[in-house]
Amino acid sequence: MLQQLLNDTITTLNRVVDRRVFKLRATETGTVLYVGGGIARINGLPSITSEELVRFPDSVLGVAINLEPNEVGVILLGDSDKLIAGVEVSATGREADTPVGEGLLGRVIDATGNVLDNDKPLRYNERRSVEQPAPAILDRAPVTVPLETGIKTIDALIPIGRGQRELIVGDRQTGKTSVAVDTIINQRDKGVVCIYCAIGQRGTAVARVIDTLHKHDALANTIVVVASDEDPPGLRYITPYAATTMAEYFMEKGQDTLIVYDDLTRHARAYRELSLLLRRPPGREAYPGDIFYIHSRMLERATCRRSKCGGGSLTALPIIETQAQDISAYIPTNLISITDGQIYLSPTLFHKGLLPAIDVGKSVSRVGGKTQYPAFRSVAGDLRLSYSQFEELESFARFATRLDEETRATIEHGQRVREVLKQAEHHPLRASQQMAVLKAVNAGLFDDLELDKVGDAEALIQQRVLNDLPELCERMEAGKVLDDSEWQQVLNVASSTVSTIKGQSKE
Ligand code: ATP
Ligand code: MG
Repeated sequence: MLQQLLNDTITTLNRVVDRRVFKLRATETGTVLYVGGGIARINGLPSITSEELVRFPDSVLGVAINLEPNEVGVILLGDSDKLIAGVEVSATGREADTPVGEGLLGRVIDATGNVLDNDKPLRYNERRSVEQPAPAILDRAPVTVPLETGIKTIDALIPIGRGQRELIVGDRQTGKTSVAVDTIINQRDKGVVCIYCAIGQRGTAVARVIDTLHKHDALANTIVVVASDEDPPGLRYITPYAATTMAEYFMEKGQDTLIVYDDLTRHARAYRELSLLLRRPPGREAYPGDIFYIHSRMLERATCRRSKCGGGSLTALPIIETQAQDISAYIPTNLISITDGQIYLSPTLFHKGLLPAIDVGKSVSRVGGKTQYPAFRSVAGDLRLSYSQFEELESFARFATRLDEETRATIEHGQRVREVLKQAEHHPLRASQQMAVLKAVNAGLFDDLELDKVGDAEALIQQRVLNDLPELCERMEAGKVLDDSEWQQVLNVASSTVSTIKGQSKE
């Protein structure tokens, strides 16, 4: 009996050691040979492993990423001002890790778990390694549930599903962050846990996002993970992996999660900086050879899990900044090929005031279409095609002095569709509100309304449809197919609203 117990205990202990929950190893020390630019080169530490944490004096941590015969290249996660060559360092025997748990919700932290919002200590359940393997193919399920952004252009024309990876790409100051933040705001009553991961941005920009989330009651459901432009490049590099680990904790509990990486251009630059300092051979645009892999292994962790494996999903919205609208540059093309589609924001549309400045022609969602509610699909169906036809027609019609009646009517209708697709930032709409407005514009109800009155009519329809047809709205949002008489009820509300607006403008 006693022998059996002893054997069992030994087996369990061996298993724990095998899983490397802890390692039995004498503490090793090494010496810093060089420190600067956010990296250190170390002599000694012969049995250190890749990705292992290294402890410097003053509790500064680093991650060993270059293992060479005589030295170890380490990226620093903390302030290196006081570090000098010659100081002693020790291996810790653990990988770079980050706290996870419900206590992180509503907090602003960095990748290592330092709190940045107030003095309250961080409550967390455990620490997990920042690098985790992506879920196995057999554990993944097709994407079937929509992730509603509340933005008409996206939900109608470029729908996103839970578990999808959709790139947000555009030049600087085109509204990339606004699209992502609006999507987070729209999840506040949908039970989706959100993570906003800011990489290499100015502190003021991050503070603005936090303030917006707070004002719209979306912070309680969100974790903000920050590595600002003043943080060492090592911290900027590991932050998105740490943020993904935090999201995975919720996904493994069967919850839906959304993560925004703002932005991966700066992440790639941080990695390039570290790689050059670590003397890795530079490749195209001076990026190291594994630049594709650093993003693909991160985004492969976004998925929708089979219900047999516990369910849950992780939707990723990586952001990329382009230079002079060049989406064929190195990093943007890498990310376009890794993700399941892209939302392209055009500076031309932005300057014309067509906000959000989403270029429908250049944007695509490869898997989200299947997740769109049937009622939504029936109103958004051919909007995309007819809208691009209108844009083409409009640009040609600019040269014509006289237009035939049919062309004029198509252009006037298209202009109203464009007006309807405009949307103020931080003003996400419910799916039923969007469907009602799109149904109205498709039915031509706005065609004889003055262009500057379309916005007013739209706002009133959004209000009235919720007030007058609450049950129908719920059916729409539950993914039910509406019959003709139900659509007629929606159209009746819309046409009486348009009459009200017409009446007001005559007075
Ligand atoms: P950066 O390249 O600096 O990160 P960005 O592409 O993330 O910029 P934002 O910061 O989201 O762009 O937006 C740029 C500006 O455009 C902000 O001042 C924002 O308020 C404004 N803006 C974005 N979307 C809209 C919108 N739909 N309606 C009105 N203003 C908007
Ligand atoms: Mg931004």
